[in-house]
Amino acid sequence: MTRVFNFSPGPATLPESVLRQAADEMMDWHGSGMSVMEMSHRGKEFMGIHAETEGNLRELMGIPGNYKVLFMQGGAIGENAIVPMNLIRSGGSADYVNTGEWSKKSIKEAKSYGKVNIAASGEAGNFVSIPKQSQWKLDPKASYVHICSNETIGGVEYHWTPDTGEVPLVADMSSNILSRPIDVSRYGLIYAGAQKNMGPSGLTVVIVRDDLLGHALPITPSAFNYQTQAENDSMYNTPPTYAIYIAGLVCKHVKERGGLKAMEEHNRAKADVLYDYLDASAFFSNPVAREDRSLMNVPFKLKDEGQDDAFLKGAQARGMIQLKGHRSVGGMRASIYNAMPIEGIRALVQYMKEFEAQHG
Ligand SMILES: *Cc1c(COP(=O)(O)O)cnc(C)c1O
Repeated sequence: MTRVFNFSPGPATLPESVLRQAADEMMDWHGSGMSVMEMSHRGKEFMGIHAETEGNLRELMGIPGNYKVLFMQGGAIGENAIVPMNLIRSGGSADYVNTGEWSKKSIKEAKSYGKVNIAASGEAGNFVSIPKQSQWKLDPKASYVHICSNETIGGVEYHWTPDTGEVPLVADMSSNILSRPIDVSRYGLIYAGAQKNMGPSGLTVVIVRDDLLGHALPITPSAFNYQTQAENDSMYNTPPTYAIYIAGLVCKHVKERGGLKAMEEHNRAKADVLYDYLDASAFFSNPVAREDRSLMNVPFKLKDEGQDDAFLKGAQARGMIQLKGHRSVGGMRASIYNAMPIEGIRALVQYMKEFEAQHG
């Protein structure tokens, strides 16, 4: 068996020990005589898995008791509509901060459900930095303020938590959830597709403060109504059971590694190796302002884009895949989530050095 270093932005690399355990338990989970995939979501076995996954996630992130954890479907793109349907209120408005491609998608979608104000935007600067909070134009009457905490494509990340006063802060954390400790109590709602840092695709985690439930627009489908899902323990419809199980194994694994503080140190050490090389190189470059650089997604360019294909081919030959940048920005991107070992970064940087020596 050969495993590659998979730099995919998502679905992304998972911890090997989690995959092994899932393989071991595939045919017969804990003597139940069935695979988790075959279990009734209302049976005692799966109810136990579900509760344990939620418990581990709560413990890892320090989620306060007045927040519900919902396991939903539809991905973060689905949530771009589900959030305003549930929170914006009839005739209401919301503030959005535009920091790149994923914020833009959230903004576009929200406009179907209410008034959207762009409180700040990094667009004029080509999204290489996060607008400072002093430049934000927040509306104290807004139903919520929306941010994308890590722009998976542009590679900018908030390393601070915005202060939105009484207005609930909503964050799309798809690509940096579980990568470091955060203070959940500073947020009204957090949502994340699982397939970057938490597990397989198909599961969307929503962490929502109690008082934000119960205000959904009448058009909201029942399965996407947070209150309905909260009242039914995320089982109003059949939840993505297998994805919840794997996310539970990932949470347990992260706990065993020392929790989110340890993940942050690990992620910072990895990112430093790559950014330090990028900054020293005359051939490769990263455009993002230092203080806003993502620890999860590192876009970079070659001096001569005519050599992009050769670079990718050479990487593939060395067992490093999915380094091609998003089509909207070109170049390269290394996604280095929790499960990417530092050996993967060292192998990448070693290859980049060799490539630079040959082609620079
Ligand atoms: C990947 C990603 C999404 C899209 O998630 P889907 O599961 O495809 O809906 C949205 N926002 C961010 C920040 C992402 O990284």
